[in-house]
Amino acid sequence: MIETNDPAIWRNFLPWPSAETHKHARGRLAVVSGKAHHTGAARLAAHAGLRMGAGVVRILCPPDAASVIAPAVQAVMLTPFSSPENLSREAAGSDAVVIGPAAGLDDATIANIQALGSTGAVLVIDADGLSVFKGRTAELFAVLDRDDILTPHEGEFDRLFPGLLAKGRETAVKDAARAAQATIVLKGAQTLIASPDGRIRRNENGSRWLATAGTGDVLAGMIGGLIAQHMDSFNAACAAVWLHSDAAERFGPGLTSDDLYEVLPKSLFQQW
Ligand code: AMP
Ligand code: MG
Repeated sequence: MIETNDPAIWRNFLPWPSAETHKHARGRLAVVSGKAHHTGAARLAAHAGLRMGAGVVRILCPPDAASVIAPAVQAVMLTPFSSPENLSREAAGSDAVVIGPAAGLDDATIANIQALGSTGAVLVIDADGLSVFKGRTAELFAVLDRDDILTPHEGEFDRLFPGLLAKGRETAVKDAARAAQATIVLKGAQTLIASPDGRIRRNENGSRWLATAGTGDVLAGMIGGLIAQHMDSFNAACAAVWLHSDAAERFGPGLTSDDLYEVLPKSLFQQW
């Protein structure tokens, strides 16, 4: 049975810091950037992760991207990596890793995701990180743990699960989450969130203002930010989807994706 994604379900699981907390205790998030000309998505995701309360957020980037990203971030730390092995070493201390936004559709992205599979960090995989496994879904499934999250829009979903959407979005996302043994967020005007154990929620506060470039990257960072603080993956995904829409509605017309994380604290504060 499908549930409505109501804040009452997950509000009490949101990770509020204790008075004595410190930044490392609030969770460590890593976001993997694409190459030099494709760094905006990682910056959006990283800032969104900070806004959701992750205490330490790092962007891991190919060496050519470091000089592009450095002047454009302040609280976000930057670590270049030069190989998949190097990436997995650098990511090893993270609680959660976001990978895929603007990652590139080449085998290096697959190798990077495979390398991250052994770090113990929860993976949030979006965008190119999904599309690159078109026709190679078994290789993606081999990397996934039950805590991991995939965040496809319908085009990306169809690349991973060709034809499945013909069964209807609800059945499709439930079947996909069972097959992947991971949480799947099927994005759209009414985003659906399905857990590998069969639970499914429909988000009903969707905001049309989200139909603009970069909002998906912000969502991936928000989910990563909550998971880095040890919120369980299914509720973290549900909370992030709802808060993302709430923030967009608060801002309204003219929203661009980087406005979102400015408004997010207000949406979050309402749940405090
Ligand atoms: P992406 O497709 O990765 O760029 O992500 C777009 C984000 O905006 C997702 O979270 C979608 O659910 C959301 N979105 C896009 N269009 C709409 C819409 N018309 N109504 C509500 N949410 C939308
Ligand atoms: Mg996207």
